[in-house]
Amino acid sequence: MINELREFLKSQHPGVEYTSGLIDLVSYSTDASTNQNRPLMAVWPTSTGQISGILAFCNERGIPVTARGAGTGLTGMAVPIEGGIVLDLCRMNRIKKLSIADRLAVVEPGVVFGDLAKALAPHGFCFPPDPSSGIVATLGGNVATNAGGLKGAKYGTTKDYVLGLEVVLANGQVMRTGGKTLKTSSGYNLTQLFVGSEGTLGVISEITLKINPLPTVFSTAMASFDNVEDAGRAITGIMQSGILPAVLEIMDRATIKAVSQYSELELPQCAAMILVETDGFTKGETEYQLDKVLGLFKANQASSIRKAGSQQERMALWKARKAAYGGLANLNNTLLVEDLAVPMSKVAPMLKFVEELSLRYGLTIATAGHAGDGNLHPTICFDGANQAEAERAHQAAAELFDKIIEFEGTLTGEHGIGLDKAPLLHTEHDAEAMAAMGGLKNYFDPNHILNPGKMALTKP
Ligand SMILES: Cc1cc2nc3c(=O)[nH]c(=O)nc-3n(C[C@H](O)[C@H](O)[C@H](O)COP(=O)(O)OP(=O)(O)OC[C@H]3O[C@@H](n4cnc5c(N)ncnc54)[C@H](O)[C@@H]3O)c2cc1C
Repeated sequence: MINELREFLKSQHPGVEYTSGLIDLVSYSTDASTNQNRPLMAVWPTSTGQISGILAFCNERGIPVTARGAGTGLTGMAVPIEGGIVLDLCRMNRIKKLSIADRLAVVEPGVVFGDLAKALAPHGFCFPPDPSSGIVATLGGNVATNAGGLKGAKYGTTKDYVLGLEVVLANGQVMRTGGKTLKTSSGYNLTQLFVGSEGTLGVISEITLKINPLPTVFSTAMASFDNVEDAGRAITGIMQSGILPAVLEIMDRATIKAVSQYSELELPQCAAMILVETDGFTKGETEYQLDKVLGLFKANQASSIRKAGSQQERMALWKARKAAYGGLANLNNTLLVEDLAVPMSKVAPMLKFVEELSLRYGLTIATAGHAGDGNLHPTICFDGANQAEAERAHQAAAELFDKIIEFEGTLTGEHGIGLDKAPLLHTEHDAEAMAAMGGLKNYFDPNHILNPGKMALTKP
């Protein structure tokens, strides 16, 4: 079958490059998760027409096709678990249009988040979602996972900025959704259907994004707390106070310890630290908001507060948060990076629960996250070679998932369902919602060739 595809590409799309070299295929067998399966071929399309031809060919023959951006997904979303071909979109990386007048950018899916940020900055504009992986992750991947990031509390996630899409459907037909206006009430919102669909409904070949003015003034502070519940209450209080910080990040004791060991930073050994930043266009507005936040830190027993007095001090406060991923990666040989989000009133109880879970199971569970939108990343650290410890880690994760549902939260705030969370999807969505998702999959991809095996979307 792959020989046939090779012949098809040579004759019909002679410009398309592809590989079935072992080293390449091993690289394409995984992403930033622990899942892996080797595809038969990886293809680098450079146009919508090429994607269309490849999908039509694969659809007729039932060949699985997994779209891929930068492969930074954390739940196995881009792992070709049923083999077939990987469609690597990294060469479709043109910014097709920047229109400040219309406040939008039109991009190909392989444009890296950071490259769009660099192109927009000289115009005083930005695309606000700010995933920590933004220097490598693609906008196609961001849309297909509904990526969030450090600024979600104030600016929302990718879904809030996608105005329109061009999507190649499983049968090769090209569909346009949405448009170029900042608002519309026209018909079903098909654009949002594809946001977060993880490559299971179609391959996104063009994205129209809303852009925002880039804030120019920032006020930044960091507070430490002697217990996580006080920190959680401070977060809930801030988000109820009527102001909207751009950044509200939390790190718990285990994360602070990991960062201290990994970096040269001297951090207070406390139960939790919160990094806060307000942004805007005048010092008056950012300082007014920060003063309110500092009042809430004090009212919730912050043991220390450091406010940045200069850009240099601001960067010093950010350093600790930026070192969190590196620090956590060094904690043990196996990590389960969770990605829950809970209603704001449940942030403090969830932090407390994770702390108790860690003690009860005798495992390090380090929590960092975008607390301003209730999105926490408890990371369960264990020795994967020790079977008993691995089992304990998975039991602890199972208890965590039950608690998320009890708190009316979600299993994934931004990392997606992929393979890791697929068996749990039904615990969050009722039978009717699951059936609707299955029906949509069958409509858009009746032969289940698009990223099969993901999101619990099994073939009827
Ligand atoms: C260190 C680190 C930090 C991270 N921080 C964050 C964070 O702050 N916020 C966050 O949200 N995530 C974060 N992530 C996760 C990851 O970066 C995001 O999920 C990102 O959006 C994935 O983009 P990608 O280009 O790597 O996509 P991939 O991993 O290649 O693909 C992800 C999914 O999108 C699909 N897809 C990709 N392109 C297309 C397309 N054109 N059409 C249809 N489907 C497509 C794939 O099939 C797959 O299902 C982090 C990951 C790492 C490793």
